[in-house]
Amino acid sequence: LYVEQALGQGQPVQVSRDQAHYLFGVMRLGVGDWVALFNGRDGEWQARVGEAGKRGGELLCESQSAPLRMPPDLWLLFAPIKKARTDFIVEKAAEMGAARIVPVQTEFTNSERIRQDRLQAHAVEAAEQCGGTYVPEVAELQKLGPLLDRWPAERQLMFCDETLAGRSSALSGLLAGQGENARTGGPSGPWAILIGPEGGFSERERARLAALPNAHAVSLGPRILRADTAAVAALTLWQQALGD
Ligand code: SAM
Repeated sequence: LYVEQALGQGQPVQVSRDQAHYLFGVMRLGVGDWVALFNGRDGEWQARVGEAGKRGGELLCESQSAPLRMPPDLWLLFAPIKKARTDFIVEKAAEMGAARIVPVQTEFTNSERIRQDRLQAHAVEAAEQCGGTYVPEVAELQKLGPLLDRWPAERQLMFCDETLAGRSSALSGLLAGQGENARTGGPSGPWAILIGPEGGFSERERARLAALPNAHAVSLGPRILRADTAAVAALTLWQQALGD
């Protein structure tokens, strides 16, 4: 169960009304039962139910069952698409171990607004579902141009370029240079993946990306994938080669 409060030995954790409904109503837990808790910062803790009521309750942390496991320093940048598909991208990115999820507005992005709080809640649910101890931050929507203007020199950018579809994947060449990490599965340094909108990238954006020394255009294979499929494919390829 995800909670906001700090977790530690003997730490009491107050249960909200919604959590009480889930724990004591749906899961039918009672006083003395165990619950696994995480907050994205303190690892996973086993807590006992101290008080159980309809509108709230209290849990008491007893022991840490897993330390905080930080994912590799990987950001997923993507242009929001339809609501359900955007939700899907955030959920899958959190499951696949992205450390930060950054919705970006490109020249051809349809959506000019996102519900950051809703997307963050999806990231929490996804982390809960896959037993993670870390919750990726979902950033506010930001414009791609200014983001590239101040792109950090140390962060590599895997730019998924649909115009390369059909050519042999540039990913293998790109990752060959990172062979040591790919073999050992060790930390790979800061990376980001960039996925475009349904309309793809503009010529201006392509030129901007081509001029960025640490951006690497890659193909995800011979077919043009939908953006949500492309995000999952890119995360899988990156994790397989460089993740841990
Ligand atoms: N409108 C574009 C077109 O028809 O050429 C397709 C854009 S695609 C639906 C959305 C995004 O997914 C692209 O901007 C790109 O980032 C990524 N993508 C899809 N297929 C890809 C591929 N084969 N290689 C690299 N990136 C791909």
